[in-house]
Order: sequence, then C-alpha cells, then structure tokens
Amino acid sequence: MGFFEFRDTIQENDTVIIYISNDDLFPITVKKGEVKQTKFGAIKHNEIIGKKFGSRYDCARGYVFLLFPNPEIWTLALPHRTQILYTPDISRIVFELGLSNGKVVCESGTGSGSLSHALTRGIYPAGHLHTVEFHEERSKKARQEFEDHGLSKNITVYHRDVCAEGWPAEVDHKADAVFLDIPAPYKAIEHVKRALKLEGGEFCNFSPCIEQVQETCVKLREKGFTNIKTIECINSQTTVKTSHFPMPDFGVDYKDLEAAGVMPTNCEKIGTYVKRLEKGAKPKTRNLKEEDEKAENAVEKEELKLSECNFVVKSALAKRSQYGHTGYLTFARLPPRDESL
Ligand code: SAM
Repeated sequence: MGFFEFRDTIQENDTVIIYISNDDLFPITVKKGEVKQTKFGAIKHNEIIGKKFGSRYDCARGYVFLLFPNPEIWTLALPHRTQILYTPDISRIVFELGLSNGKVVCESGTGSGSLSHALTRGIYPAGHLHTVEFHEERSKKARQEFEDHGLSKNITVYHRDVCAEGWPAEVDHKADAVFLDIPAPYKAIEHVKRALKLEGGEFCNFSPCIEQVQETCVKLREKGFTNIKTIECINSQTTVKTSHFPMPDFGVDYKDLEAAGVMPTNCEKIGTYVKRLEKGAKPKTRNLKEEDEKAENAVEKEELKLSECNFVVKSALAKRSQYGHTGYLTFARLPPRDESL
C-alpha cells in the first residue's frame, strides 16, 4: 500500500489501524484467513477486505473503526521499539526544517520510525530520507515497516554508528536538512555538516537533557552554525473559569434598571442593550426572581445583588505543568560555505 496515497477500499496486505478509542489503537496487516482478537471480540481479516477505510466493524461485544494510516495515527498506534517522538514535537520539527516535495533529509537514530514517517510525508513524493540506526534489529524492523508502507523508494535505512561514520559518502552535501535523536548528538555534528548541502541547510536536534543541549550548542557554534535556538514543546492544561465582576459604568443608572426589572445579564450584550435604550427602545421586562435564583447558584451561593455581580467574564487560565516534558528541540542553520577554501 502507499502510506501517502489514500485508497478507499481495504485490500489484502494493507496496513489498517484498528481504532478502539483515542488511546487504544493498533495496526494490523490484512492477510486472508487471519483473525485478530480484541477486547470486543475477533476481527476476521476476510470480512474487512473490500470494506471502506473509515468504516465500522462490529465484533461480538462491541465495535471498532478501520482507519487508513497517516503519520499522526501511526505515531499513536506503532509498535514501540524505543522511546518515540510525538506529534507536538514532530509538527514543529517538520515546520522548522522547511520540508517540501523533493528535499533530501538525513536522520539518526531511526528508532521506531515515528518521526521518519512524518519527515517522509514532508518531502513526498520526490524527496528522500536517509536514516541511520546502529541497533541492527531495529534497523531491519524499520526497513521492513517502510517497505510494507510502500515507502522504500523514499527511505533508505543504514545500519551504522552515526557518531563514528555519519551518513554514507554518497549522501555528502546532498541534504537540505538533518535531524538527530541520539544520546550524544555533539559527537555527530561534524558528520551533520558533511551531509548538508554547500548552499547550507537546516538542522534540528532532540535531547531530553539540558546538558546535552548545551554541549551540542557549543559544537554547533564551533562548526559555524547560526540561528541557534532551543525550545520545549510543553502540553499545558487550560482551565476555563467563570468570574463575576461589578457592572462597568456605561453611564446608565443600573440601580434604576434593576428596580424596573430590566437588568441585562451578559456583558457582551450590554453595549447593544444600552444603545437600544438610548435610541428609545422599551426595556424588556424579565423575571428577576427566577434569574436571582440562577445567579445565586452561579456565584456559588454568595449573597450578592444582581447589580454587583452581573458582569460575567469567562477566562482561560493556562497551567504550566512538567508532565509534558519530553525533551528540548534545538534548531540551527548552516550558512552557505565553500569547502575548497
Ligand atoms: N526519533 C525516533 C522515533 O521517533 O521513533 C526515536 C529515536 S530513539 C529515541 C534513539 C535511537 O537512536 C535508538 O534506536 C538508538 O539505537 C539509536 N542510536 C543511538 N546512538 C546512535 C548512534 N550513535 N548511531 C546510530 N543510531 C544511534
């Protein structure tokens, strides 16, 4: 199958993502006669051949959805062989590296291939990803997976140590961008420079520890990289809070309005409301008794007069938490250079 060429109908040998819930999804390779057991019951491969991607499949005790894979879904469903990069970091990497169709990218290590799929989509269909992994078994698994996903013409996996050897000599000065996710990136910067085009290119490094970042930045500066910046993509929780404030002064005597039973309750509506009153519109009479009860609940049972608490504001508070920490992304640019000098 072509991972980046959407097809409507499921065929034998396709990779299908079985979606049970947002955090329970896994891939299967469709093979005639095979059966996959899930917590909802069996999925018979024969029965899904010919079904549409995106359709629902009923098992004995529940149902699943049959999804066409893309890099984001793959990242959530892939078999983990290592720690992997997730979509918040990946999207920033793809953006900062300026990927587009036809570009050449170098990566190390390949790991579980989570990032590799997104990098390849960024340069698809004419581009190429050269990815280096020094764990032999992992490099074989990744190669097989890329082949199963119809990506072997766009990805080459090399089994070697990037710090010792870098990328193969035929890649020298071919790369538009290089990405590293290895324990000692500063040991590979010389090879990164060799891989990047003489016209220059973009670099990104992912490191979980700030000490690795510092050492890498020192090396990057030493090797002539510029525009060095380090960022951290952190998930933050947003809490929406409703607060009640005194009514702003719009030049109207709110006490009179309240006495007349015509208090507006929503600050967004106040401006229009006041304008309508100024133009001579008749104030709308409302059931203040009922609203009083509602307002009382809304202000958490505090005894406040409507005129004192009628200005309602919803605010979003972003709470920074350390739970989102995966690592630091360091970006740098190698300016054009003349290696003959
Ligand atoms: N970015 C990958 C992903 O999203 O799936 C995960 C990479 S994983 C954290 C790091 C990988 O780098 C491991 O598979 C490890 O074997 C490999 N590695 C570590 N040092 C290396 C080196 N010097 N040369 C090549 N690969 C290396």
